Amino acid sequence: MYRCVNCNNIIEKMDPNYVRCPYCASRIVFKSRPPVAREVSTD
Ligand SMILES: [Zn+2]
Repeated sequence: MYRCVNCNNIIEKMDPNYVRCPYCASRIVFKSRPPVAREVSTD
């Protein structure tokens, strides 16, 4: 999952050999992960 820094669109899938935003053709994207909620129980 990537996010374009230019148009701020979410890019679900991207070819790692061809990193480019399909919306604005920007080559600057952030690799982002969906936030994972993790519950920690202290016993
Ligand atoms: Zn873009």
